[in-house]
Amino acid sequence: MASATGRSAFTPRHVELSLPPGHRFPMTKYDRLADRLERDGWSLQRSPAASWRQLALAHSLPYLRAVRACRLDSAAERRLGFPQSPALVRRSLASTGGTVAALAQALRCGLGVHLAGGTHHAFAGSGEGFCLFNDLVVAARALRARARRVLVIDLDVHQGNGTAALAADDRELVTYSVHGARNYPFRKVPSDLDRALPDGVDDDGYLALIAHDVPWLLRRYAPDAVLYQAGVDVLDGDRYGRMGLSPQGVQARDALVARACFAAGVPLAYALGGGYHPDLGVTVEAHRRGLEAIAAAWREGWTVAAALTDAPGVC
Ligand SMILES: [Zn+2]
Repeated sequence: MASATGRSAFTPRHVELSLPPGHRFPMTKYDRLADRLERDGWSLQRSPAASWRQLALAHSLPYLRAVRACRLDSAAERRLGFPQSPALVRRSLASTGGTVAALAQALRCGLGVHLAGGTHHAFAGSGEGFCLFNDLVVAARALRARARRVLVIDLDVHQGNGTAALAADDRELVTYSVHGARNYPFRKVPSDLDRALPDGVDDDGYLALIAHDVPWLLRRYAPDAVLYQAGVDVLDGDRYGRMGLSPQGVQARDALVARACFAAGVPLAYALGGGYHPDLGVTVEAHRRGLEAIAAAWREGWTVAAALTDAPGVC
């Protein structure tokens, strides 16, 4: 259950995955963020492993069989960006199960946080861009009996191509992606609403767009829950970002999304998403500040929303 302050989160840090020396994925950011939040008084729980049955809600059986046996072919492994291993499978199961758990917590308490996940480049039958399973789609479908319509708000700098492809024939899964027009993936898959932004976009232009779009989407689609992919690779100086947001801008973005959801009485589940600043501390701090803003928005907004609507209560 959420603590009284909303500062509670799931983490897969108990499932270790060591990558080859020099690998470009910043694996340590997850543990550093979890450790930091724990020192700050957040209450952390282990991300449970997703079941293979849950994964089959988003992925094809031939793909799941190949992943489970570590038998993806070399081209598929290259697209994924990680070497296959049983440890990678275990870690990815926890990275997916934690998002399912966060969404379940959001449906009970208004807010659920997963300090991993947001693996939006995974398709039904393939993975790419460090994404083996699509935790967002798995979570939305695993909890459909309790949240019929889910809106994915994907503010990672890279377009949520896998999520958009999986949601294309799913009327209850609504997708919104704000991303760099000239950034990876170079072949975008249409979301319900895409905002492709130029390189170097700054706080003002970016935040004006979010402030307009998110309340509009909540009105237009009336989702039962929001899954928020809160990648911080929009930060100025991110290795793979090409946008120009300041740390304050990222925090303001997270606050805007959370306030809009809670004002509308819509539960919010947070998944971490990308962040590749050359200084890992900058990435971790951006996530931390965003999460504190979201927790504050929950404290301020959820009690009122829950009292005024038929939204679930406060835990
Ligand atoms: Zn990204």
